[in-house]
Amino acid sequence: MSSPSPFPTYPRTLTVPQFLLDTPTYPLRPSRLPTSPWLLDDGTGRTYHLEEVRARVERLARAVRERWALGAGDVVALFSANCLDYPIVIWALHRLGCIVTPSNPSYTASELAHQLRETRAKLVFSGEAGLGVALQALGQAGLGGASGREREGERVVLFSPPPPDLSHADGEGCFPPSSPPELHQTPHGSFPTVESLILSAHLLPANYVEPSGPRVGDTVAFLGLSSGTTGLPKAVEVPHRAVLAVVLQIARHCRANGPLGEGEEKWVRPGDRVLGVLPFYHIVGLVLVMHALLFAGAAVVVVPGFRPQRFLETIVKRRITHLPIVPPMVVLLVKSPLTKQYDLSCLRWVLSGAAPLSATILEQFRAILPQARIGLAYGLTETSTLVSIFDPHRPPVPGSSGYIAPDTDARIVLPDGSTAPPGSPGEIWVRGPQMALGYLNNPEATAETFLPDGWVRTGDEGYVREDGSLFVVDRLKELIKVKGLQVAPAELEGHLLLHLYVQDVGVVGIPHDYKGEVPLAFVVLHQSIARQASSSAHEASEIKQELGKWVSEQKVEYKRLEGGIEFVEAIPKNPSGKILRRLLREKAKELVKGS
Ligand code: AMP
Repeated sequence: MSSPSPFPTYPRTLTVPQFLLDTPTYPLRPSRLPTSPWLLDDGTGRTYHLEEVRARVERLARAVRERWALGAGDVVALFSANCLDYPIVIWALHRLGCIVTPSNPSYTASELAHQLRETRAKLVFSGEAGLGVALQALGQAGLGGASGREREGERVVLFSPPPPDLSHADGEGCFPPSSPPELHQTPHGSFPTVESLILSAHLLPANYVEPSGPRVGDTVAFLGLSSGTTGLPKAVEVPHRAVLAVVLQIARHCRANGPLGEGEEKWVRPGDRVLGVLPFYHIVGLVLVMHALLFAGAAVVVVPGFRPQRFLETIVKRRITHLPIVPPMVVLLVKSPLTKQYDLSCLRWVLSGAAPLSATILEQFRAILPQARIGLAYGLTETSTLVSIFDPHRPPVPGSSGYIAPDTDARIVLPDGSTAPPGSPGEIWVRGPQMALGYLNNPEATAETFLPDGWVRTGDEGYVREDGSLFVVDRLKELIKVKGLQVAPAELEGHLLLHLYVQDVGVVGIPHDYKGEVPLAFVVLHQSIARQASSSAHEASEIKQELGKWVSEQKVEYKRLEGGIEFVEAIPKNPSGKILRRLLREKAKELVKGS
């Protein structure tokens, strides 16, 4: 099944900032972009206009080049909550040809160290709250040298609060006179900040040459973590051209700036604002919010995280028109009595993605916001966000995750490799300009998912109707999604196996009303501990507590074993030792039913 009307001009010769900041005219680009604010900080009301964005990006690029001599192919990690300078840092690094790997700011040191090692990141831009963790992770990853804190400290830049609003949209003029790069004092030592680097670059000469060439779009822009169909989180190589493809596919699909049909309303209008509440470290926040909606002409209102009341207040106060969210936020809006206290009539377009959402909740949500176009999108890090998205100009299709994106082919494949009959479910395979390149330094995993003829195996089960609408019915891969975020069972299993009590383990997801799913561990205890566990309910509960603590001390909050721990005698496996997860899932279902 292929989407209609091909759009042939996906840029291949440009990087993301070259397209977004330097190419004022392009098909589907709204003409008003250069003069209206691009980014707005919800906390302070500070805005960046395009000229200021450009100037900050240029200066930061020069300062980073001067201080660390980074260039093409060097990887830099971002370890921060959403903030106004997040995109500035990304585009400055792209100007140098660097690759950005965004990371969850709630990660523990060992989780961040894994990402730093996988990606061989040379520098970390960290929020102040995560500084201690960033330093520890650099030490653990062995990238900061063995000689202690100074070495790690030399590889950290702090995101700083946005500067005072000195002027509006006059580029160079919005900076105070140059000052030497100041270090910001923290309990962990002194560090340069994004702001101090930008200020220090005032007198620096142009010191870098931007990447260029006919295939520059094929170079990697982002390394996002995903466990794919199996195993540990891996670094997905998302090239510049794939990000730009999504930007244009969404603009085209939603008719951002194109001719409208009869009765259709403009999807993005001058003055529209999108709420940047989805984390920028996840592919949806990163590509859909920070790039696609910005390109379409909406300003991004940046908020550091999701707090229900503040979220509702911000929608009203900032007159948010476009709201990309994840299913738990929809559930909360539907169920919370708070929602009724706010006038949300400003919302015109609401998109839920990153995880399944029940059709019933979606209908209830539509009843709360009758004026808004509401629907789903489906995609993966491996598809740079986008496979399908609802059409704001067409009536909703109940149960569907939207229409297959422009220029994207979808094939529904049965276990024997044949194509499923129309309308029957099978594994969703996709192909299009937005596909990632593969997993960094992992040819085996790449070969399993990224097939030679361009197809990407999603590991999800679904079907496509004649009209191009996609229905995701199940997940075939082992991945668990908690609040829209990935939890790789293999990661939790590997960690639990390090515990002295644990002989074997299998982790699966069980449904959760608000979070979507939560992890449950089936554990085989070593013999002596198993005897102890069976001696009394109290003993068994102590052992479970100990194992729960073992996970919660080393893993970010959403990976905790909230689904519980079940002691079993054996983990079902096939002859080659692979866990038979379907059996474990069935067992988990029975437990949930019986509870
Ligand atoms: P990520 O790479 O973190 O974006 O995770 C991608 C996975 O999230 C997909 O392979 C699906 O399993 C799940 N997912 C994303 N969107 C949807 C959706 N609309 N419906 C069902 N599952 C989804």
